[in-house]
Amino acid sequence: MRVIADILRECHSMRMLGYYCSMISAIRQAFRHSVLCLLLCAPGIVVAADSGVVLLYHHVATGTPPSTSISPEDFRAHLDYLRDNDFSVLPLDELVQSLHSRTPLPDRAVAITFDDGYSSIYETAFPLLQEYDMPFALFLSTEPINNRQKNYMTWEQVRALSEAGVLIANHMVSHPYMLSRNREETDTAWLARQRSELMEAEATILRETGQSHRFLAYPYGEFDAQIKAMLGKEGYFGFAQNSGAIGYNSDFLALPRYPLAGIYARLETARVKFNSLAFDVELLEPDSPVTELDRPEALLRFNLNGISQSQIQCYDEGQALMLHWEDRESGLLRIQGLKARSGRRWRYICTAASTENGRYFWYSVPWINPR
Ligand SMILES: [Zn+2]
Repeated sequence: MRVIADILRECHSMRMLGYYCSMISAIRQAFRHSVLCLLLCAPGIVVAADSGVVLLYHHVATGTPPSTSISPEDFRAHLDYLRDNDFSVLPLDELVQSLHSRTPLPDRAVAITFDDGYSSIYETAFPLLQEYDMPFALFLSTEPINNRQKNYMTWEQVRALSEAGVLIANHMVSHPYMLSRNREETDTAWLARQRSELMEAEATILRETGQSHRFLAYPYGEFDAQIKAMLGKEGYFGFAQNSGAIGYNSDFLALPRYPLAGIYARLETARVKFNSLAFDVELLEPDSPVTELDRPEALLRFNLNGISQSQIQCYDEGQALMLHWEDRESGLLRIQGLKARSGRRWRYICTAASTENGRYFWYSVPWINPR
């Protein structure tokens, strides 16, 4: 009886989700979700988990900028690894909505995303993902597509992806640095301009594909507390570009994704990320990643759930950080970089080995200095 009640509850939540999605997306999702529910409800078949991982790609090509590219061979190696090692590659909305509503996922749940809308996604990644029968999501900036810019997909190609079940979501109109103010622009005018661009991209995607999920991937992974608050008010989820797994208590206005390009595309390092688990961490200070400091401090509260404090290690560009426990009892940890940073974006990463061999809890704190 409990199984039936669970399925009915899932079906109800699917109806709620479907309200926001196109009909095709809702049907596809309902089907996958009910299959997932049956699997989770059948004891001993799939381990339920409160954690998921979102992967981020741009170009699947050689000859494009290395910092945003993975070669077709390396991309295929990722898909082989996911297929052969008990991963469940889920539609992005299913993974995120499940974690947001604290609905268990299968163990090793992964969603695949692409940003920007480059033509290699349509030409190379799409046929490969169809071959492996894996869903994926595409975050589009609409202006380069409208302008038929070189190396970008056309709307005809985007519609073909959409009709094949690909989730199409928002990456703003012009791929802006959202933190940049125009000369003498007030905070209110700046935020209104960001909101207006967000709405325009969402409306264009809806008109061209029939999809509107209210998912925004921040261009360059850049956001601040005001942008997050605006997004929350409009009922959006926000996706960033700093590493980490997503759990029930993640910040759904700045969800981590693992960028897998350049040296990070190598399977030896990427597979540790595929297998990572959500650290239950609350970022208490600061409330925004924007900083003018070259060694900013972060105050974190770790809900350790049986993980030993001695297992936790934090890094800045591979260099281990000193850990200042403010209150070990309540898991309050202050971290600060050792070396002055001069770049625009960087991050502190905290990990801890899980009891499962080769799997790590993973959390990162992004920093942005727009200067
Ligand atoms: Zn982008």
